[in-house]
Amino acid sequence: MFGRLILAAAVASAATAGFAAPERGLKAVPTSFEPIKQACGERDGWSDPAPPSHVFGNVYMVGTCGITSLLITTPKGHFLIDGATDEAAEGIAENIRKLGFDPKDVRYLLATHEHLDHAGGLAKLKQITGAKFATREAARLGMESGLPLADDPQHGIHPAFPGVKADVIIGDEQTLRIGKQTITAIATPGHSPGGTSYTWKSCEGKICRQIVYADSLNAVSADAYRFSDHPDYVATLRRSMARIEAIKNCEIMISPHPFQSEFFERLAGEKPLVDPARCRTYVAAARKRLDDRLIKEAGN
Ligand SMILES: [Zn+2]
Repeated sequence: MFGRLILAAAVASAATAGFAAPERGLKAVPTSFEPIKQACGERDGWSDPAPPSHVFGNVYMVGTCGITSLLITTPKGHFLIDGATDEAAEGIAENIRKLGFDPKDVRYLLATHEHLDHAGGLAKLKQITGAKFATREAARLGMESGLPLADDPQHGIHPAFPGVKADVIIGDEQTLRIGKQTITAIATPGHSPGGTSYTWKSCEGKICRQIVYADSLNAVSADAYRFSDHPDYVATLRRSMARIEAIKNCEIMISPHPFQSEFFERLAGEKPLVDPARCRTYVAAARKRLDDRLIKEAGN
């Protein structure tokens, strides 16, 4: 019944908004929206509004010009990964509506990591959607307090974001399911202690692709923090890099900061959306940044 309601809503909205006909009731290709790359232009602020975009199959980008937020739809309810900032939350909900879906059908909210640019909008989105927020235990305190914890390299440099209470704790390699759609969490701490990546399969007709939403892996910190003073933490970050690098079948890789995976260029068709080398090149850039940082610290 629930699935039929969504199907009816999607079809009705597609008819009125001038979308291409939805495939299997899930794919309302947003042909009427300006391409996100063009719409954002030079704007890349965390809260800069962007139009929604179809990514692949049942996956949509509903975030801002500077921050990725992914909607994964199913006839039985949806997943939403990342909420950008508190200021961006209403726009994310509006983007879901513009696609012909109801924010109240989001059943699970997830996040890559406990920083204000990716988790700041989750509290408001939880209110709007009524969804359950699922997070790893390592991220829970940061998510609920809205502040990077003491062992976070960025501790002390961000203002608090509205904390979001965890409803479900997910472990490494644990899977969440809505109907036939599963999403698997991969613990990738390092950029933050609670960093989490996600992978799942989405299909468009008979073509199925493995999607990897890889968390930030960059060594960014408060001014006084020295990565070289925290060898265990650096080892953790390197392990996370190795895990993303080792993912077999990394067909469509997406990053929380769109520019780090040329996401908008790929959505615009200027670069291939399906690019099995992306997990490796993403890690190579992050690893170089960490190595450069350690060399710099050694010289000071
Ligand atoms: Zn961050």
